Amino acid sequence: MAHIEPHHGFSTRCIHAGQSPDPVTGAVMPPVSFSSTYAQSSPGEHAGFEYSRSHNPTRYAWERCIARLEGSELNESDDVTYGGFAFASGLAAIATLLDHLPANAKVVASDDLYGGTHRLFRQVRARSAGLRFEFVDASDPNQVADAVDAETALIWVETPTNPMLKVVDLAAIAAIGKEHGVLTACDNTFCSPAIQQPLTHGIDVVMHSSTKYLGGHSDVVGGVLVTGNPELATKLRFLQNSVGAVIGPMDAYLNLRGTKTLGIRMARHAETGIKLATMLEAHPKVERVVYPGLASHPQHAIAQKQMRSGGGMITATLAGGLDASRTFLESVNLFTLAESLGGVESLIEHPAIMTHASVPAADRAALGIDDGLVRFSCGIEEADDLLEDVDHALSKVS
Ligand SMILES: *Cc1c(COP(=O)(O)O)cnc(C)c1O
Repeated sequence: MAHIEPHHGFSTRCIHAGQSPDPVTGAVMPPVSFSSTYAQSSPGEHAGFEYSRSHNPTRYAWERCIARLEGSELNESDDVTYGGFAFASGLAAIATLLDHLPANAKVVASDDLYGGTHRLFRQVRARSAGLRFEFVDASDPNQVADAVDAETALIWVETPTNPMLKVVDLAAIAAIGKEHGVLTACDNTFCSPAIQQPLTHGIDVVMHSSTKYLGGHSDVVGGVLVTGNPELATKLRFLQNSVGAVIGPMDAYLNLRGTKTLGIRMARHAETGIKLATMLEAHPKVERVVYPGLASHPQHAIAQKQMRSGGGMITATLAGGLDASRTFLESVNLFTLAESLGGVESLIEHPAIMTHASVPAADRAALGIDDGLVRFSCGIEEADDLLEDVDHALSKVS
């Protein structure tokens, strides 16, 4: 295993954390280990691998890497609880974490969540596990504290939130969880550990859709959970194997490969993010821009405290409602109109019609997800080309 020193920087960890050349061949990248089962020399005697849902070396390499990047210090032990757990998708990771909660427990969650998370909570687990969900504006920690009661088993936050990019004070949320003995979890998909490491602020579990910035190339679906708590890690490993929503070896490999360049990609996403947000904010056809790196962002001070940059996601409201946003979205060239985010290519979307269509219209209105709202995922193309593309598309809006 490459020996990571405490002073080693983020990109060094991206490339070496949890990884070492293959002991048999010296291969620098881990082989993609497709075998579903492993030979035993005598009943129960094996090299630590029995069956691929339970143990897979390619998945382990990816899990070790992401655990280290998120700041989990757990080491590999007999039951392989080093703190990172990879799943078939982000939602599979969340569903498995929900399986950790007792039936009928209460979950306090941010009101402005990824649409699929909201759907899993409200339309699936409320019915199948009796979970109760209370949604609050978690950018105000008092609302979270007020919602926690004796049945509350989990506080779930996203920061920045999707799509309104509200920033949640992670240290304040962690403190509320500790005070009430409630597990805290943060969906860190929008930042990636290059920008924000929730465990270092006291959050118990980090979740990612590794489909986004971690994979980084829009060619793989995956999810992870990471914790630094050894008891919780043992339980998550048990649940990962018992529920079985594991990532496959090829997808684990693609995540590992994508994450090698996470440090430099995120720096570029954020560099373009602030340039485009600044341009949009000054544009007469744009009513409002939300970007954590702008001084105008309502929680800019908290963003500066816990984020290394403003990231690559921008939300903007065009003057002129649906007509304006439709014309604009049809006129962009380099930005591809598509759901998802976090890839090398720039994407743009209309939350009310696309990603957040499953959120009830009244809730969308209350959150400010109106018809003029568009969400940008800045890719790593040349920033000047992207700005020119957006400027040109805005000129088509009457
Ligand atoms: C995409 C996404 C998810 C869901 O992940 P999948 O990999 O699509 O299952 C959860 N949270 C956020 C913030 C996301 O962007």
